[in-house]
Amino acid sequence: MAGGPGRYAWGEEEKAELLDLMETGNLFRYGEIGKDGFKGKVVTFENEMAERLGHKHVVATSSGTSSLLCCLAALGIGAGDEVIVPGYTFIASISSIVLSNAIPVLAEIDESLTMDPTKIEALITPRTKAIMPVHMLGNPANMDAIMEIANKHNLFVIEDCCQAVGASYKGKRVGTYGSLGAYSLNTFKTITSGDGGFVGTSDDDLYERAFGFHDQGHKPCRQGVEVGNRSMVGMNFRMNELSGAVALAQGRKLDTILGMLREKKARLKSQLQGIEGLGFRKINDEGECGTLLTLLFDTKELADKFCEKAGTAPIAKSGWHVYNNMEQILNRVTASPANCPYSCPKYEEPRKYYAHMLPQTDDILDRAVNISVGVVDKGLGAGTGINLNSTNEEIDQVAANIKAIIESCR
Ligand SMILES: *Cc1c(COP(=O)(O)O)cnc(C)c1O
Repeated sequence: MAGGPGRYAWGEEEKAELLDLMETGNLFRYGEIGKDGFKGKVVTFENEMAERLGHKHVVATSSGTSSLLCCLAALGIGAGDEVIVPGYTFIASISSIVLSNAIPVLAEIDESLTMDPTKIEALITPRTKAIMPVHMLGNPANMDAIMEIANKHNLFVIEDCCQAVGASYKGKRVGTYGSLGAYSLNTFKTITSGDGGFVGTSDDDLYERAFGFHDQGHKPCRQGVEVGNRSMVGMNFRMNELSGAVALAQGRKLDTILGMLREKKARLKSQLQGIEGLGFRKINDEGECGTLLTLLFDTKELADKFCEKAGTAPIAKSGWHVYNNMEQILNRVTASPANCPYSCPKYEEPRKYYAHMLPQTDDILDRAVNISVGVVDKGLGAGTGINLNSTNEEIDQVAANIKAIIESCR
């Protein structure tokens, strides 16, 4: 079964929340709890998630992509503004910038498979407005270094937490370091409501703007019709009560799921130590989600041989999440300084995105192979491995198989 750990954790709790709604059929996110059969699933989810993650505010949305758009809109990022984003991420990090009329500037990753902080400053121009670190595959980006650069250059930070719901870095959950965090609840993420997402922030003004953008410019949690008090236009990215009911039940399981993932990953990883030619990606904090185990081979040759025998592919060839494979942006001018409302001293030419423009990223992803722990997703190169419900015996068997395959590659 393809999907994330939340999908594997589906049970009576989700069913009960949905059945509760079936009694009354009031599926719109706004209302007064108890009136007209309104159950307030979405707003309860928002309040509980804010408390759980350490945000002052959470806005539930229709997806991680719409959450990113809300973050960008809340910060007023638009035409001509540049946003630095890693070249290894899901396309939505990049497309949300493009669709905000801003300009994505692709950054290298390091061996943590998240944005390399040492490569950020060279990308900063007078037009840079924000850095968007992505906590890839559940691993927190190096937030200390990124926040230091952002503060030094007066840049906003939007954390793309779509693959790392619940992860923590230095004792605080991801998404609470930047101005805002964007999260996804699609079927491949840590917890799921099928599709869905949310924005987290502790800034009252940004909350109001993110909320307004996710509705039609309304102030948070309106009651019915409200005219004359809308300061912006919005897109209607609201979550409905059906998704909210499932998200509520899944949110309550989040920390249990994370505990299980970390335990299973540790068991798998501990059996793969000390193998010649094999290492692992760098984990920036043990508070990572544990959704995947990323093998990092010493050479591309060994990674290729391993993958051929294991019936998988190195991340570089695994599809969607590598900029080299994003035909939507490659060799197209998606953003041009012509849109720029003020003079652009550094870039006379439109930004171009082309294959192999990030050699360090290419080298790392050529040698990296994802093994599923909780996220079973061929699109991530993690079609095989273990899942949330794997037994110890199954985990040990997978470890033994991986070891045997590597040995046979020599
Ligand atoms: C999944 C994902 C998104 C988008 O989430 P959707 O809910 O599918 O819109 C954005 N960024 C990253 C890094 C993701 O993995």
